[in-house]
Amino acid sequence: MHEYSIASALLRMAEEHAHKHDATHVVDLHIRVGELSGVEVSLLETAWSLVRAGSLCEGVDLSIVRVAAHWTCRDCQASLDRGGLLVCQTCGGRVVLSTGDDLVLDRIEMEVA
Ligand SMILES: [Zn+2]
Repeated sequence: MHEYSIASALLRMAEEHAHKHDATHVVDLHIRVGELSGVEVSLLETAWSLVRAGSLCEGVDLSIVRVAAHWTCRDCQASLDRGGLLVCQTCGGRVVLSTGDDLVLDRIEMEVA
């Protein structure tokens, strides 16, 4: 299960940060999930509730922000939302995906003794 390995990776990162800062507990974990990242948010939440058990993240829910896919023209930097032709409306140039295809661990809040 794809989401399970992502949840494990998130937990590993959170615990590394927590240990580095001598934190006793992680309070909040903020992540951003791009709409084209291939991550199913509900599956990720389920996987997370399994992997966090017994860890420094025990009882912590993921704060998930979904990021819409967005394209940018390679020539004039004009931006394009989804739904249109993948050609720049300003100059006719080629567009490339600029956001929405990744998953980012944004912020970790933790308690330090
Ligand atoms: Zn353009």
